[in-house]
Amino acid sequence: MNSLLVFQNITLIDGTGRDPIVDATVAVRGNKIIYAGAARQWLPSLKEDIINLDFAGKYLLPGLIDCHVHLSGSGEPDSRFDADDGAMVLKILANARRNLAAGITSVRDLGGWNELEFEVRRAIKRGDFSGPRLMLAGRFISISESGADQYAGMYRVADGVDEVRKAVREQIKHGADLVKLGVTGAVLVEDGVPGATHFNSDEIGVAVEEAAKSGRRVAAHAHGIDGIRKAVQAGVHSIEHGTYLHQGPDVMQEMARRGTFLVPTLKAGRDVIEGDTRRVPDWIIDKMRETQKAADKSVRMAYQAGVPIAMGSDAATPLNFHGENGLEVHWMHEAGLKPMDALVAATLTAAKALGWESRVGSIEEGKLADLVVLDSNPLEDLRRLADKKQIRAVFQDGKLVARQPVDSYPKSVLAQDCLAVG
Ligand SMILES: [Zn+2]
Repeated sequence: MNSLLVFQNITLIDGTGRDPIVDATVAVRGNKIIYAGAARQWLPSLKEDIINLDFAGKYLLPGLIDCHVHLSGSGEPDSRFDADDGAMVLKILANARRNLAAGITSVRDLGGWNELEFEVRRAIKRGDFSGPRLMLAGRFISISESGADQYAGMYRVADGVDEVRKAVREQIKHGADLVKLGVTGAVLVEDGVPGATHFNSDEIGVAVEEAAKSGRRVAAHAHGIDGIRKAVQAGVHSIEHGTYLHQGPDVMQEMARRGTFLVPTLKAGRDVIEGDTRRVPDWIIDKMRETQKAADKSVRMAYQAGVPIAMGSDAATPLNFHGENGLEVHWMHEAGLKPMDALVAATLTAAKALGWESRVGSIEEGKLADLVVLDSNPLEDLRRLADKKQIRAVFQDGKLVARQPVDSYPKSVLAQDCLAVG
């Protein structure tokens, strides 16, 4: 019988949007949460072996979920991800672990490299390495365009209904958990026009149809309003970026009605606009500046319209480093979300965007014990979510997977492969 792990003297922010509970207790048996609530209502069983973890004055949150990363990119200033396969598989693994060590216990990868991310997932599942829970799209399905040359290992070109159908089947066969579709042009392709529509309605529709046959969702990369509208009408589950969504209030209404998620990825632009851009090519700086205002406006309007918003950092883009993902929550707040709503975008709403809400995304009885301990209240300053000095400990499946090196814990709490925070 597993012993019971009991987190004591914490303030609980459970990830559902409910008010924090001061003086809370959370109990974990095996990999599951069996109690989360006020300390005074917790009745410990006398028969069990109990390990108490006293985190007096600290804050307990669910492990964060990032709905949009590329593990194959490491924030290269020129957005060139290329590496040979051996180096790439290590890069993907290292980036995955940077997420975990920053309290991002689940990530959705929306464009990998030569499908090597599937190999990394196998290694994590086997227990060879600690890593976040991975939801993988495999390749980014795109029309013929120059992005396919720049990101040769990421793209799968498909033109026309039959090719799209085949590309979707192929990605699912290779292990994709969902389908990523490039519905419009991109910011990070030198001659890409973000507003331009790429796939036609029938091509998007067939991707949704094929994915649905095996219970997969479709995430649509879409900046321009025409492409966003077509993707929403075709029944995709999330709009990634959504830069010019503000141009279509009708589309926002439709997203709110259907429950289509918006994953804004504001951090991609912010990191370039506010970062040290000495090695970033001018065309990237110019395009990020051009699109950021529209992106912020779209988030604010979509939030007011009741569109479900899920956190996605797009970690991988220039200066957008894995492990700093949590800053996206801060940028969503800056764009207009209330602090608690911005946080929930990275917890329960993110879990819903992945279809994983019965397992992760909140600290509730019956869910998996993916937990983050923070030194101070993130709702007072959301940047604390990504502050390596603030993150005390990260638990996944009830095991300690990352910690501040100065802290000691009972040996039975440690995962086999426990990382240092940061
Ligand atoms: Zn992306």
